[in-house]
Amino acid sequence: MSSPFFSVLVGIAPFVPFFVILLSCAMRRQKTCPDCGEPLPRIQSPLKMTKRQWMEGGYTCLKCGCDVDTAGRKVPANTAPRVGPFVIAIVALTLVCVIAAILISFILHR
Ligand SMILES: [Zn+2]
Repeated sequence: MSSPFFSVLVGIAPFVPFFVILLSCAMRRQKTCPDCGEPLPRIQSPLKMTKRQWMEGGYTCLKCGCDVDTAGRKVPANTAPRVGPFVIAIVALTLVCVIAAILISFILHR
């Protein structure tokens, strides 16, 4: 199990979730703005995301600035983020980190 291929696999493993998320963002069907009909961006700059979009996901229309949720529905301004999806994201991220730490410690103790 100490082949170079296995070492490369272990080195790449922590980055796999990032590329899976990036690929799923690029592959999903493009939604349109419910206000002006303009296609919404598939990938959005983190600097332009609202607090609600950080926690729940969603888009800001590049043409009219409309806040849209992940299902393509308009979100009224100053809507408070729901806690549920954010907690799920934190738990999933923690699980990924724990699995990566276990894999790394397993490899280093050989
Ligand atoms: Zn729009």
